[in-house]
Amino acid sequence: MIKTYTYKLKPNKTQAIELQRLLDESRNIYNRGLEQLIAYYKETGKHLNRFAQDKFFNTETCPNIHSGIVNATLDRLHRSFANFFRGWKEGKRIGFPRFQSYRRYSSFSFNYYPSGGKIKDGKWYIRRDYGIKVLLHRPFEGEPKFTRCVKKASGWYVQVICEFPEVEPKPITKESKVVGLDVGLRWFVADSEGNKVYPPKYFRQAEWKLRQAHRRVSKRKKGSKRREKAIHLLALASEKVANQRRDFVHKTARKYADKYDIVVVEELNTVGMLKNHCLAKSISDAGWGLFFSLLDDKLKALGKRLVKVAPQYTSQVCSQCGALVMKSLSQRTHYCPQCLYVEDRDVNASVNILKKGLGQAIGEATPLGELLTREAQ
Ligand SMILES: [Zn+2]
Repeated sequence: MIKTYTYKLKPNKTQAIELQRLLDESRNIYNRGLEQLIAYYKETGKHLNRFAQDKFFNTETCPNIHSGIVNATLDRLHRSFANFFRGWKEGKRIGFPRFQSYRRYSSFSFNYYPSGGKIKDGKWYIRRDYGIKVLLHRPFEGEPKFTRCVKKASGWYVQVICEFPEVEPKPITKESKVVGLDVGLRWFVADSEGNKVYPPKYFRQAEWKLRQAHRRVSKRKKGSKRREKAIHLLALASEKVANQRRDFVHKTARKYADKYDIVVVEELNTVGMLKNHCLAKSISDAGWGLFFSLLDDKLKALGKRLVKVAPQYTSQVCSQCGALVMKSLSQRTHYCPQCLYVEDRDVNASVNILKKGLGQAIGEATPLGELLTREAQ
């Protein structure tokens, strides 16, 4: 399992210039490499592989940059090619690797940990004798694999990517605590115990500021200094909103991962959902995809499990008697004419999700059968 630790860098003026230079060099290598791959393909009809390309990017053609950065940049280029080819085979739309402008390209890495980009005594060493001050607000754990430098609107950051050994999954027993989660638009999640987690109020305020920043940029003249400044303020505002969201999602995921042994969620069809424009904004904002992946990581690290189920009928079926009660999106309460059960729409759905998930997991372990009957009672 992989964990990323992010720390703020405190470069002085010359060091900040050096970081920018390394970022530009790395981007340059990426673009040159891409150009070479395209040219080679046009000439021979073949893909130039990573090792063949290695020959062209050595200490002579890239004299002022650590070989670890050169290697990591080429790895990155070939990874994006591999993604493209994989998507092509699977019929998914993954774009052809593109040339990177300075606005898009915001990070570079060292390919291997202690040989390049080592963190020692509160400094990040980009060369053996050249360290940049790091704010290590907490120590990193696990085995560090490599470091990455990221430029954000608020400054420079270093990320330490660490590996952890896989945790043996805990056996499922009668005592296992289970919960089903339903994600919704009015609240972030509703669980099968009737709790709802709302997105915090400060989201609204930050979003308002973000909209204002957008407007400011569009009002200013293209190519002007004032527009550049407005763009920077917009980037700062976006970063803040993203940080707030991630923080909230992390905390919500942590709460469920600590409390339960099995968490059941719906398989999200975000691509299909994003086509519906009314829902699109709130869905992409809600960050459920991130929530599920963080939840999965946190559960795995504790030897617990996340079960995903198909979303069909979870909101329509009565969780008490199994009758099909059709309702529109706007109908917020589930009312069953057959057994007279009344419950909030999303809570009813999360109970259904939980049942479905337990049924699905039955194949894995026998004690779940008893668990399921206990849940049904
Ligand atoms: Zn019913």
